[in-house]
Parts: sequence; structure tokens; C-alpha cells
Amino acid sequence: MSESIRSGTLYLVATPIGNLEDITYRAVKVLASVDLIAAEDTRKTKILLDHYNISKPMMSYYSYNEQVRAPQLVEKLIAGRSVALVSDAGTPGISDPAFHVVQQALEQGIPIVPIPGPAACITALMAGGLPTDRFVFEGFLPLKKGRKTKFESMKSESRTIIIYESPHRIIKTLTDIQTTLGSRKVVVARELTKKFEEIVRGPISSILPELEKKEPRGEYVLLIEGASKHSAEDSETD
Ligand code: SAM
Repeated sequence: MSESIRSGTLYLVATPIGNLEDITYRAVKVLASVDLIAAEDTRKTKILLDHYNISKPMMSYYSYNEQVRAPQLVEKLIAGRSVALVSDAGTPGISDPAFHVVQQALEQGIPIVPIPGPAACITALMAGGLPTDRFVFEGFLPLKKGRKTKFESMKSESRTIIIYESPHRIIKTLTDIQTTLGSRKVVVARELTKKFEEIVRGPISSILPELEKKEPRGEYVLLIEGASKHSAEDSETD
């Protein structure tokens, strides 16, 4: 399908989560054709654009400036410019900023076109080996307030649970899961699509001691097996 870029349109473009070749033809065409690219990390996006020989004006759009930048982007869209919004990696809006600009653009009747592609959560789910028919995405867990309640609510969650975690907290989070949920099956997916990709699967009781042997590095997605029907019912009657 050949597609011409429409003026005054916001394109939400998914970009690779590691391997620069994990991008669609359509995404490359859109990035090469819009008037402006709004990027969460302009240096990182430049590496991607250089790889595909794309040279475009860029504007930074990240969580600390989104309140200011979102109305500026909307103004440009109203003035008829076409804008592609990309995040640091993966799908814009999935645990990274996009929401404000999407919301404000919709309020102004600006057309929004999603250009789908990789997301770390789905990439982990694909290969994890836990049920994929029903799942729940929790993103980053609360660090303090609400953390305990979140784990408590997982006791009766029968769907596969997906969590994003940093290398500094992966051991703590797995330990908290073991304490609250017991030894469920988990999948620890690290550095997906990158050189040191690693997907470890098994009961948390055997995964945790293995992980503790070396310092965690890189980016992590954690999958937790949902509660069995039996244990979910037990926890509801607790
Ligand atoms: N928008 C992204 C997406 O579509 O998945 C997520 C952005 S969020 C700010 C970054 C988190 O996603 C990381 O801390 C990690 O938990 C996860 N992540 C991103 N890339 C990853 C990768 N290559 N391997 C494993 N996890 C990754």
C-alpha cells in the first residue's frame, strides 16, 4: 500500500527496542516524509535515522517537558505540519510519554495515525511460554506507595502479568513476588532483540538464586504466571 503523508496529522511511530532492523517499511517511510519528528531521546533517534539515511528536524518530547511541549506540537499540527512522535524505544505511549500529546491532539480534532511495531511487553510474551490468551500489563510497579497493595492484588490475578523493571530493582521485585505470591513460574526477559538477549524461564525459587549470582544489567521484562483458578478463589475468600 502506498501512502502519502497527510498534513496536520500526528503519526505515532513504533521504533526498535534494540535491533535497528525491527522497524516496518511503513514506519521508515513515514519518518522520512513528515515535516517534524518529536523524539523522547533525540540522540538515540538520530542513530536510528542515520541508519536509514533520514535527515529531519527533531524536537525533544519527554516526560519532564511534555506539559510544555504537547501544546507546542499541537500548534504545529493545527498550522498544517505533519509530525511523527517516537519514543526512546518501542511503541509510543507504552510506559513512555505520548499520552498528553495524543489527548490534546484529539481535543483539537487532529487526526492520529498509529504506525505499529515492537513493544518489549509483547516481545517477551511471544517467547515466554506462559499463557498469552489473557494477560495484564502492569508497566513499572510503584516503588513505595501502593507497592504492597499491587502485589496483594496479583494474588487473585489469573492472567499472565507483565512488568517492566530496571536492573537495579529486578532482584528486589522478584524477592517481593516470591514473598507475596509464593513460587509462581516467571520469565525474566533481558535485552530483547539485542546482542545479550537472554530469556530465563522457571519457578521463581530456582530463577532467583541464579540471578543473584551476577550483577543484573540491561533492560528487563518480567512475566508472572497467573494464579491458578483454585488459588485465585482461595485468595478471594481470604
Ligand atoms: N515504549 C517501550 C515499549 O514499547 O516497550 C517501553 C519504554 S519503557 C520507558 C522502558 C522499559 O521497557 C525498560 O525499563 C524495560 O523494562 C522495557 N524494555 C525496553 N526495551 C527492552 C528490551 N530490549 N529488552 C527488555 N526490556 C525492554
